[in-house]
Amino acid sequence: MKHFILLLFLLVAFSLHSQEEFDKNSVKPCGTVSHIDAWLKKYLESPESFPESSDTLWVGMQLHLLAKDDGSGRFGTAQLLDALHRLNLDFAPSNIRFYCKNDWNQINNTGWYQHDSLTQGIAMMFANNVPDLLNAYFVAKAAGNCGYNLPYAGVAMMHGCTGPTDHTWTHEIGHALSIQHPFIGWEGKTYNPNNPTPDTLTYDYTHFHSTPDTIVPSPLDTALVEYVDGSNCGIAADRICDSGPDYLSQRWDCNTQGLSIVEQKDPSGATFRSDGTLFMSYANDNCQTRFTPQQIQIMRARLLTAKAAWLAPAAPEPIITGASTLISPINFAQATAASALLTWSSVPGATHYLVQVSKVSGFGISDFEAIVTDTFALTGQLTPNWNYFWRVRPYNCVSVAPFTANGRFTAKTVHVQSATEAGWRVYPSLLAPGQPVLLEIPEHWTGQAADFRVFDTGGRLMWQQTISLENQRQVLRLPSENWPVGVYNVLCSGKAGVFRQTVVVSE
Ligand SMILES: [Zn+2]
Repeated sequence: MKHFILLLFLLVAFSLHSQEEFDKNSVKPCGTVSHIDAWLKKYLESPESFPESSDTLWVGMQLHLLAKDDGSGRFGTAQLLDALHRLNLDFAPSNIRFYCKNDWNQINNTGWYQHDSLTQGIAMMFANNVPDLLNAYFVAKAAGNCGYNLPYAGVAMMHGCTGPTDHTWTHEIGHALSIQHPFIGWEGKTYNPNNPTPDTLTYDYTHFHSTPDTIVPSPLDTALVEYVDGSNCGIAADRICDSGPDYLSQRWDCNTQGLSIVEQKDPSGATFRSDGTLFMSYANDNCQTRFTPQQIQIMRARLLTAKAAWLAPAAPEPIITGASTLISPINFAQATAASALLTWSSVPGATHYLVQVSKVSGFGISDFEAIVTDTFALTGQLTPNWNYFWRVRPYNCVSVAPFTANGRFTAKTVHVQSATEAGWRVYPSLLAPGQPVLLEIPEHWTGQAADFRVFDTGGRLMWQQTISLENQRQVLRLPSENWPVGVYNVLCSGKAGVFRQTVVVSE
């Protein structure tokens, strides 16, 4: 647990708080060259012989968050939660749900973080994959693509294509579950309406074979071009009949019906427009809304057979359905600029809360961000006399709840007394792990109860207890043997006042 908390703190400390806008046209939508592999051929020959189930399929994932060698540039927690939420929304109609089996794996490696070639991506995955899980890597550069899926290894995702309204991750996981581009065979080619449309296309799926051992020589395959009338839909293109023909292998925009602006002609001369609502197309993200029923059947069959090792036997955690509300400070209440105490209501099922404080309502830049397992956080230094926004997002390994409504408070320079100023003696301030803290209590505090809370510098509540101050000398037993070495704030509040004492836990 200690290790986990420390990792989370590092993650927050080094996360990118604002994502740079970049032009998606500068990278390819997807680097995956689809291919009808042996499993899919067998499935398509007799779908009825494959198992079916109406249960929710819980797919375990291992997420890998890459950073540069110095730990900078890693995908932020807020962005990752947005992406997880989007992924599960996109897959909801298929009754497939993705969850994080383990903590996020943090890897510092500049070469992998911004890799230019698939061979680097393959090396990254072979070095870090966790078996029997869907492995997904979040990087700044994914070999010139928004994302790609290596059938024998995992999914790579570019930060810039993993926003709350992007569907690249959904698309790549579609590939990982054996569904193909509707335009299979057209990858790397440009459809030209002035040229006659061929009946067949050959394509090179180097690196995208089912196993890594056939990279050389380059494997070639032939795809039939799909007709508008559906006459060859079961043997042409993606071999799926409810996805329709599509020859567009570069990013394209759709009209208000979700169809391509570009009109295409099949080999017989019949005209059509591609269906941009499909996640597996290269339509812009704002066009995409769905997988087809046949695509969903294939993904579920794949999970129930060849990828059964990824499935959890039951829900690993409940899906969070409730919402949290902010308790304090709200409605422009004043809070201590040096360290504001934030509190909110708990939500059934939530194991973690992401807390953000910002000067701007869009939270593009966070002035404070923390992940906590309780319903309190103590901020770091804020700017006095500023009005701040704050919000909380509850989550667990299977679900991400919505953010709370924004709360507002004014940071004020309120002088919080030190223990000495309050007439106390709290010592020693440098503690060996597990060493008790001695309290000498002034007379006007004795005979009362006082609340003691200890926060780490990331604002997480480490310990709290209400203590009856019966004697003038008492002992505070902090479970500091379980805490990482570092600085902690002890906050004591009672009828007689509030004071703060810093203690350092050393080795
Ligand atoms: Zn793709």
